Amino acid sequence: MRVKELSDRLVDAARRARFQVEYYGKREDHSLMAFHRVPEDAKASVYLSAGVHGDEPAGPMALLDLLRKKAFRDDVAYYLVPLVNPLGLEAKTRENDKGQDVNRSYGPTPSTPEAVAHQAWLKDRQFDLAICLHEDFEATGFYLYELAPERLPKDDPRRTSHAFPSPARDLLAAGAEHLPIDLSEEIDGFPADKGLMRPPEERTETWTEDLPEAIQLLRHHAPWCFTTETPSTAANIVDRVACHGAVIQAGVNWLLHHVS
Ligand SMILES: [Zn+2]
Repeated sequence: MRVKELSDRLVDAARRARFQVEYYGKREDHSLMAFHRVPEDAKASVYLSAGVHGDEPAGPMALLDLLRKKAFRDDVAYYLVPLVNPLGLEAKTRENDKGQDVNRSYGPTPSTPEAVAHQAWLKDRQFDLAICLHEDFEATGFYLYELAPERLPKDDPRRTSHAFPSPARDLLAAGAEHLPIDLSEEIDGFPADKGLMRPPEERTETWTEDLPEAIQLLRHHAPWCFTTETPSTAANIVDRVACHGAVIQAGVNWLLHHVS
């Protein structure tokens, strides 16, 4: 599917699901867009992003699938950034058209046009939970990165306001309904425990420039941030889309259990 077509389908599905569509920038012919739906009595707020890497199509398609199924709850505020790097998706490359990894370009001085525009949109927004949808072409199954409030500075009030028990195992179980868990003991150079990755603190705390989106989100926008990774070569697209969707729903259910 061409990106323009996917983008049109996303906008159409978002409007039908009563989301507001915002355009926060442009890359060549492609609009950068965000969708939100914020009920007055929202019990919690959830941010979802996809398409940061262009060779990882399941994330944007999972958001399209959830929008079409009207699977977003009425008592939660949702913010979706469904196609962060459209030129990468068009070219089926991890990087953008300039060969830059957008997911290493967030931080105090964002270094790609995609991250500059995306961070301007994020600016002062706060969410209870963020989930970034990714894929891994080397993975044999599904796995998850967790960044939890304990990673925030000691004086950050969100460390206590959001000190809920981690949902990571439940999220993995939800994903495992559709895909096997990647049981590798090391992924991306970090130890993995039955599909769960918690990047070492020294790594996340000293990293100041060219950040992944997830670290930027944790520091400024969401005390809980998960990154889902589905195996882009080892499984079919239908199961990968379903896996991301199941994890999102499990994450929202966990959040509601703790905030309401
Ligand atoms: Zn990725």
